[in-house]
Amino acid sequence: MARHLASSGKKILILERGSFLPKEKENWDTKEVFTNGRYLTKEKWLDKDGNEFGPYTHYWVGGNTKVYGAALLRLRTSDFGEVQHYGGLSRAWPIDYKDLAPYYTKAEQLFSVHGQRGSDPCEPPEKEPYPFPPLVFEPKMKEIYEKIQALGYKPFPVPLGVRLGQDHHRPHPPNILSNFDGYPDPTGAKADAEVCGVLPALTHPNVDIQTESYVERLETDASGKKVTEVVVKSKGEETRYRGDLIVVACGAINSAALFLRSASDKHPNGLANSSDMVGRHYMSHQNGMVIAISKEKNPSQFQKFFALTDFYHKADDSERPLGTIQLMGKPDADFLESLAREHLPDVPAEKLWTHTVDFFITAEDLPDPNNRVSLTEDGRIQLTYRPNNMEAYERLRSKLTDMFDHIGCEKRHLEHHAYVGPKLGISGVSHQHGTMRFGSAPKTSVLDRDCKAHDLGNVFVTDASFFPSCGAVNPTLTIAANTLRVGDRLLELIK
Ligand SMILES: Cc1cc2nc3c(=O)[nH]c(=O)nc-3n(C[C@H](O)[C@H](O)[C@H](O)COP(=O)(O)OP(=O)(O)OC[C@H]3O[C@@H](n4cnc5c(N)ncnc54)[C@H](O)[C@@H]3O)c2cc1C
Repeated sequence: MARHLASSGKKILILERGSFLPKEKENWDTKEVFTNGRYLTKEKWLDKDGNEFGPYTHYWVGGNTKVYGAALLRLRTSDFGEVQHYGGLSRAWPIDYKDLAPYYTKAEQLFSVHGQRGSDPCEPPEKEPYPFPPLVFEPKMKEIYEKIQALGYKPFPVPLGVRLGQDHHRPHPPNILSNFDGYPDPTGAKADAEVCGVLPALTHPNVDIQTESYVERLETDASGKKVTEVVVKSKGEETRYRGDLIVVACGAINSAALFLRSASDKHPNGLANSSDMVGRHYMSHQNGMVIAISKEKNPSQFQKFFALTDFYHKADDSERPLGTIQLMGKPDADFLESLAREHLPDVPAEKLWTHTVDFFITAEDLPDPNNRVSLTEDGRIQLTYRPNNMEAYERLRSKLTDMFDHIGCEKRHLEHHAYVGPKLGISGVSHQHGTMRFGSAPKTSVLDRDCKAHDLGNVFVTDASFFPSCGAVNPTLTIAANTLRVGDRLLELIK
């Protein structure tokens, strides 16, 4: 958003609770990143029973994209309408795919997406090619890709946000993306929100950033309709900032928490919460790592080459949607150690990791008002969540594991339901969505179709809070595209 608005010449201040993530040798140290959680927040949240847990979330300039896997897929056209799933109903959006399509194209340019238009069997319509061609497959992955094709499926190059030297046809050192998903990237090859958004925005003299600045509350004028002050805690000191327009993008859980913390006489139930919808309908995808064991070695440095959407809408034995299968970055022995110890104690992790082919599967999570973010009396974040649509997840996993024998893998596999790092459970909040959904009716939604809070005149929310339903593709390209859409609306307002 800051980059998009920068050319307006208006004064823009980014308030960020984290710092810039240091470029240091630990960026690529698996034990430091995954076992010791060096870059994770040390904050603790509470589950519905009041038990503390460490959320798998990161507070840095660039947010969670500093460690994301940069798989940047568009939602499907059907995701904007109502869809019946095994676990219930996926809600329609107040906008259509065609409203977002031009912004998806811009977001793909902003994040240097490499892909092959037309290769994904259920991708939504788009004439523009991707900005860059797909990455060149390593031999083992090409072999598996072709074996999956021989089964009659249509795997396709996963659209990936990377900035490679070779993109610009000049002499360049090659980027080897061995440490990708989950790791910060000190080379800047990962197209994250710091590299692609914040740093270019800061080249404009009218844009500034204040790090280590935790936004505690938003305060309104006497009418309760306009936010006039942003109350920030920085190194123990309180500072108040004023701005004509406020854009909140703290991530879907923290944004909802900020609105709930900002309760006042005019907004007793939380800011902009006349609908009682702030914090509700939290969704996180039914995500799982499904790790196959190849009978032959898998020497790939980077294996995240393709995805499968053949089962997105249905399958030969499933009449309802299942979801998306994609490869992950290649985990190493340190990463696999505890999973292997639990599932396959007879195989040493250092032997296992040279043979794994690592998949990541995503089924849709459905909006449930009782899955929610709330605050305890002393203001701590509490997350109440009961997984749903697990039948889709389980059917999707079976479609994948049924292929293993045909692609040279053993029947047994490793699995972890939720994302990155063993035993995440509720702390797997990487794909958080839905806590302040947008819609046309102020009684049942928090934001209007431009993502402005219904109850306020000058506050917009542009992280994944606005999603009324979340489809079964990774969220970030949609967050970015919608931000650019809302950004155009803001440019009209400030003209
Ligand atoms: C390991 C991992 C892999 C992932 N892989 C993918 C992938 O391949 N593809 C994909 O699409 N998505 C992926 N994701 C998800 C992706 O990272 C998120 O969708 C994306 O980062 C959301 O962007 P956001 O800006 O809405 O929120 P965030 O990235 O969470 O950013 C929120 C920002 O707000 C700041 N903040 C929070 N609260 C406050 C406050 N009170 N005051 C001030 N600042 C505050 C935070 O520090 C942060 O900088 C992955 C996530 C993880 C963790």
